[in-house]
Amino acid sequence: MRSCDRCDEPAVKVAIHQGADNGKQYFCYVHAVERGLTDFPMETVRAVAEAAGYSVHAVLFLTEALVRADGVESASDVWVAAIRSAKERFGESAGEALEHWQLLSRGSIGEVYLALQKTEVLQETAELTQGDFAAELTLADLLDAV
Ligand SMILES: [Zn+2]
Repeated sequence: MRSCDRCDEPAVKVAIHQGADNGKQYFCYVHAVERGLTDFPMETVRAVAEAAGYSVHAVLFLTEALVRADGVESASDVWVAAIRSAKERFGESAGEALEHWQLLSRGSIGEVYLALQKTEVLQETAELTQGDFAAELTLADLLDAV
């Protein structure tokens, strides 16, 4: 798994320079936002991260996964979107990235979702409860299932 050029978070965006070195730069979500490569309502995202007890990066990862997903109607849709997005981004390192963000189970993905669903970050998503995410499924189970 490649890290951001500026911090130890997993890299999720690449910028290619046209300059002499023709190099690539790798950015995590937060540094991608700072660089203007992507846009998220950061004030809300920071509040969600604090409320849920997860990093801003974890919240941005799940936000992006849900935006890419084709409609979210159940807890399964939420975690499937997260696992699918992690696999698309990180391939065999998907589990490593999710562990880095403490998204270690169906329940932990649910905790971030529940904090997000009340905000303007997510639109037209299902209103779920803690109970919807109660089934005991570990990260290994989830990675196997998608
Ligand atoms: Zn970074």
